[in-house]
Amino acid sequence: MPVVLPDASTLPLRAQTGKTWGRSRDVSRRVVLSTLTLLLLCPLMVIYFWLACTHYQCSLVAPYTRLSTLFHAADPLFGPILRSQLPQPSVEAALLFAGWLVFQGLLYAFLPGPVGQGQQTPAGHILPYKVNGLRAWLLTHALFVAGSSLGLGWFSASIIYDHWGGLLIAANLYGYGLTAFAFSKAHLFPTHAEDRKFSGSYAYDLFMGIELNPRFGQLWDFKLFHNGRPGIIGWTLINLSFAAAQYQQLGRVTNSMVLLNFLHAVYVVDFFYHEDWYLRTIDIAHDHFGFYLAWGDSVWLPFMYTLQSHFLVRHPIDLPWLVATGLLAMGLVGYYIFRHANNQKDLTRKADGKLNIWGRPAQVIRAAYSTSDGKQHTSILLTSGFWGISRHFNYVGDLLMCFAFCAACGFDYLLPHFYFIYMTILLVHRIQRDGARCTAKYGPYWDEYCRRVPYKLIPYIY
Ligand code: NDP
Repeated sequence: MPVVLPDASTLPLRAQTGKTWGRSRDVSRRVVLSTLTLLLLCPLMVIYFWLACTHYQCSLVAPYTRLSTLFHAADPLFGPILRSQLPQPSVEAALLFAGWLVFQGLLYAFLPGPVGQGQQTPAGHILPYKVNGLRAWLLTHALFVAGSSLGLGWFSASIIYDHWGGLLIAANLYGYGLTAFAFSKAHLFPTHAEDRKFSGSYAYDLFMGIELNPRFGQLWDFKLFHNGRPGIIGWTLINLSFAAAQYQQLGRVTNSMVLLNFLHAVYVVDFFYHEDWYLRTIDIAHDHFGFYLAWGDSVWLPFMYTLQSHFLVRHPIDLPWLVATGLLAMGLVGYYIFRHANNQKDLTRKADGKLNIWGRPAQVIRAAYSTSDGKQHTSILLTSGFWGISRHFNYVGDLLMCFAFCAACGFDYLLPHFYFIYMTILLVHRIQRDGARCTAKYGPYWDEYCRRVPYKLIPYIY
């Protein structure tokens, strides 16, 4: 028996409790403790992975075994060895990093591009965003290829690989500085004060962010810039530099490196081609700007998402052509699901639910929600196509792609598979976060969606 929901357009205003949906405000002691752990653990993890790749052939066990043996034996070499194996700061790397940020900041500010619209915020704002990412990506890569040893030879194409340790230090300093700046800005000169969330815990606010959309001026958006530009533009540039390093060492580039560069580039170019869509995803529409995004975009994304290409410099792998073709096919199938699922949702909302999905009229729930200014709004939840298979089938496409990226590195080492493990944890956690947020936002409409589409990710499994 279908549940009859009230027509969203005639629903009376919900009682205002002073709280809106969105980032949690009431956090338990356990959550604060996990936040503190992550604040400390994440940077240590990135350094450990860097050290494992740089000094221990990408073995995750070897650094621990070697260093703990020295430590427990009270060996006087422990300190000097550890110090010599940690990433070292360098002026060149710091200048490279600063130049990179300034260059991307200028491209973001001055390259022309269309202006897209974000999702309505809990306080009722709909913000404009300049979406010139594809141009910035093309220009950055064209200049890199033209200026490097791949073109005019002004600098080596392996420049990023050559300064990887110094860049890690510079990126960390920036990531922590940006987190502190975002925290202070939220208190002192917020962009949209009504869209801030305070939890009562400094640690949680620092980690998850207070401001939803910190900005300089009308259009220079911290989240879109940091995730897209130094983060995602950097991703393919770093891969290219690692491929150049492999070429310098081997005199050729292996098919696994080509495959990886290609599949990552498909993901990245797609991101910029559909940058307008990205404005209505969780990163931009719902996550606040704190350590999670500020440090995450500056350090975690460039250093952990590129672990596979780093691995392939240390372990060049020639895949049998059948395997390479199979992985290419898996990556492209994943991409197809990822892109089409995301498009179905975006197009359904743009067409107000009046379109065909897989040859039939889209099935939707017209849901109501209110914003903190007391106004009532309506939105659409699609319940057919990929969104009728499970509530997050777009994540299945992403996970298939991630698996193909990692499998290109073979199965002898765990390190290159970290990305798949991490993405699985991230996306499963996201499903839980998103479920709680959508329940708070849509109430009975979300319950009805869960009733019609009972599985979260994979039908009959989860
Ligand atoms: P979604 O694009 O799935 O966005 C979820 C939001 O969409 C919900 O909060 C809700 O927001 C709205 N929504 C949920 N169900 C429906 C529905 N049935 N119909 C219409 N709208 C709905 O999630 P993400 O932003 O997490 O992911 C976007 C893509 O980015 C995914 O493909 C994911 O795999 C990828 N991704 C990649 C990451 C990476 O690091 N590589 C990290 C995270 C994501 P509301 O109603 O408020 O608009």
